[in-house]
Amino acid sequence: MHTDLPVLSASVGEGPVTIVLHAHIDVVPGRPEQFSPWQEGGFLWGRGAYDMKGATAAMLAVMSDLQELGSRLPVKVRLLVVPDEEADDDRDEWGTERLVERGHLGDFVICGEPTDMYVGVQAKGVLDLRVDVAGRSAHSATPWLGTNAILRAIDVYEELLRLPFVGESSEFYERASVSLSRIAAGDRLNKVPDHCTMDIDIRHLPEQDIERIRTEIATVRGCSIREIARRPPIQVPTDNPYVELLLGAIDSASGRPVECVGRDGTNDGFHFIERGIPSVEFGPVGSGHHGPEEKVEIESLRRYRAALRQFIAEVCVRRDDLTGVTRIHGLDRHRDHDATTGVATLRER
Ligand SMILES: [Zn+2]
Repeated sequence: MHTDLPVLSASVGEGPVTIVLHAHIDVVPGRPEQFSPWQEGGFLWGRGAYDMKGATAAMLAVMSDLQELGSRLPVKVRLLVVPDEEADDDRDEWGTERLVERGHLGDFVICGEPTDMYVGVQAKGVLDLRVDVAGRSAHSATPWLGTNAILRAIDVYEELLRLPFVGESSEFYERASVSLSRIAAGDRLNKVPDHCTMDIDIRHLPEQDIERIRTEIATVRGCSIREIARRPPIQVPTDNPYVELLLGAIDSASGRPVECVGRDGTNDGFHFIERGIPSVEFGPVGSGHHGPEEKVEIESLRRYRAALRQFIAEVCVRRDDLTGVTRIHGLDRHRDHDATTGVATLRER
């Protein structure tokens, strides 16, 4: 079945610098009661409240605030809203990828992912593997006559866990990670399985060279390994001028110093990073995203909106210094001006 999903791009203002506010409106599955939100204890509870409809609502409010300035806003602020950030299928076309390819770009991107008002300047890279392990079948009443592929696969997994890159740390991270996420093996209870397939989700540090990781993985024997997906890491220097302005704006909106952090999960910002555009995660306070008790602190949404507005005000003041700081590559810059505001649709299988 195909359904059409909306992808939205809207902008306000005009000037030498463009700030992108990036939001996704899809959510992961939840319990039925999570789809009727309620307020309690200063929080809005419900699926997506924290990841990331709270931030999306605040971004819409910021766009509305800026709309009043209209053509007097001396920078461009572009809101991008996609419907498929949480999807995990093998789709041909991703919302953010499509927007980037069509020139909906900017000089700095803020993804409103949940960060408790911290600024996520790094995200780990993703390397997903399919590992096939062979065994030899036998009657399960005499398992000593066969070779159990599941047990061999577990040995392979444990060997992967011991590879040198897994234990390394960096300024923002204590470790890389290797997760055994899916396993398929065995067709009869009374038979020793002769084949096992594992899907392994590796999250590596931004500083780790992917080819070196692949070389280490290639040393693991007794299996065949192939790559099924890869996403590059995100790394934005903490002294990037936009990051510094954002930190200052959050400080003044929330009344306390805020830090840069590294995020274990990835986000859609990598599509912009691939074009040379710095992209960070910055979102409101809450907890329980992807879990059964998701909630966002309502007061933090006000601070979040104020911080975004303050940041854009600072960018307006500093626009001459910021012009040309970001160098977009892999795309013809003038396509930026062709990018039309509006709603398009993605085909979803
Ligand atoms: Zn999210």
